[in-house]
Amino acid sequence: MSTVLTSEAQEQLNHIRYSRDTVHAHSPAIQKLFNLVIDYVDDAEKAGKNGTKVIWAGVPWAMPLIYSAGAIPVAFSEVGRISGQEAITVSEDYYQMPAETCSMVKATAGEWHLRKQAGTSITRIFGSSSGCEPYNLAWEVMKKEGFDVYTSDVVYRAPGVEGERYEELVRYFVDEIHDFNEWLTGSREIDKESLHREIVRKNYLMRRMREIMDLRLQHPFHVKSLGIMYLMNGLTHYFGKPEEYTEVLDALVEELSGLETDEAERQRAIPLIWTGGSGQEFGIYETIDDAGGSLLGFVSSPYTRDFPEDIDPVESVARFQLQSQMAGASIYRRHVIEQQVDRIQARGLILYGYLGCSFGSVTREIYRDYFHNKGIPSINLEGTFQVGAPSGQLLTRIKAFIEMLS
Ligand code: SF4
Repeated sequence: MSTVLTSEAQEQLNHIRYSRDTVHAHSPAIQKLFNLVIDYVDDAEKAGKNGTKVIWAGVPWAMPLIYSAGAIPVAFSEVGRISGQEAITVSEDYYQMPAETCSMVKATAGEWHLRKQAGTSITRIFGSSSGCEPYNLAWEVMKKEGFDVYTSDVVYRAPGVEGERYEELVRYFVDEIHDFNEWLTGSREIDKESLHREIVRKNYLMRRMREIMDLRLQHPFHVKSLGIMYLMNGLTHYFGKPEEYTEVLDALVEELSGLETDEAERQRAIPLIWTGGSGQEFGIYETIDDAGGSLLGFVSSPYTRDFPEDIDPVESVARFQLQSQMAGASIYRRHVIEQQVDRIQARGLILYGYLGCSFGSVTREIYRDYFHNKGIPSINLEGTFQVGAPSGQLLTRIKAFIEMLS
């Protein structure tokens, strides 16, 4: 398949190369990470052509299961990085999606359309039907377009669901996991030994990530904002290459452990927490770095606790998801933000979401009020899921926010 990148996506790629070769010239581990980023989608396309099962996957809980079945997931977040205005135009003009539709829905649907035209080898999509109504419409559109689409049902634990109600929810979810496996492999039987191995791998990687985040408190500028964002994103999907991603984390622990503590660097850094998806307007990260901010806390990828290893692995996946901040109710995520605030002595929160997402904007307002009352300032940012230059106004606001915190 010819993967011709739009000029915006090409510019984004150049930005990654610049970050790899110049901003992170001192860090072989982060250089290797960016190589994984750059090759992710192209290599997955090639693997698909050579007969490996490859799917577009937007459901984080399923990643260990997908790997355990010998398949490769290509995360939706990376669809954003390779898509641009052309994809948005397809969604608005060809699919007639209203302009105000969330940019994530428009960017992914438009990009899949364009890739299909170009002969992509990845024609299966695993999404979530719990996400939102615009995406549910997009799934129908993609089915009509000839994609094999599967969506998982609601993975939502309402506050107060405990005891037998909780156990019932676990059983329901376990059943769903088998349904998904049937779509992926043709059988409801899950290879439990293989899934257990993936769980052990995931726990190892989350422990490594915790070490890295602890070491970064002493060396806040060794990994810059774009680097840490991709490191954290990779914890969900490993860029299609679990062993190589593991090597990146191992190498980074070693790098950080070997550094002398520089007290001036520590004092200079303004500790920040990032909540929400990853912004594709990379200028945002540069502005954070230039203003002296350091993203030392994240709440998007659950990495602060392990999957249980001593129970049935399918149940382990269900319990991990339902007990993490990804279980739907914003109160779970709020608890994790609070833990991170204490852990890094955060001076501010960056609340990031995508244009057109009404769910996200309500949640961000709730967080803003809550943390404002606790004396933690925040900035509410809305960006696009597809690549593009951030507006000057957005960058000015970030700069002003961080300067205020210093
Ligand atoms: S960002 Fe919001 S509107 Fe967009 S797909 Fe996600 S939940 Fe739906």
